Amino acid sequence: MIRFTMAWELKDRIIDLLSQQYSSVYQNRWQQGNHTVAIFVHEDYVFRTGCVQTLTTIVESEESSDVCKITAVASGAAGVFGLNWGSHAAQENSLKEFIEDWIEHPPRNPPRLTGFCSNCSEDARSAVLTADGKLRCRKCAMVLWE
Ligand SMILES: [Zn+2]
Repeated sequence: MIRFTMAWELKDRIIDLLSQQYSSVYQNRWQQGNHTVAIFVHEDYVFRTGCVQTLTTIVESEESSDVCKITAVASGAAGVFGLNWGSHAAQENSLKEFIEDWIEHPPRNPPRLTGFCSNCSEDARSAVLTADGKLRCRKCAMVLWE
């Protein structure tokens, strides 16, 4: 189990992020006054044990406490001899790193381009968003926005 806190202001973004990325099995949230509780259950296949492992994440925040408490518990995935070979701690730590990284480097929404590619004159509105987070010309792959 891992427990850490983030600034209270981040709670909505963290809840949105977990709801998109860490809730393949279940998610729910409850709000009462300034108190929010959200639960996310996610399943991952773990290669080192050859089993499916579950990560349950609980986000609790109360405006008066100024922090957003995050608790993550990995379970399941016991391989040979019932050992998890550190896969629980690894999954819990990777969730923490994922959230911290996302807070530090939030994804940006690409703009709607207008005009034409300066290289091949293709209509810039047909630019495609590539895996590196850049908008590229559909025809010549020139970077039109990064
Ligand atoms: Zn082009």
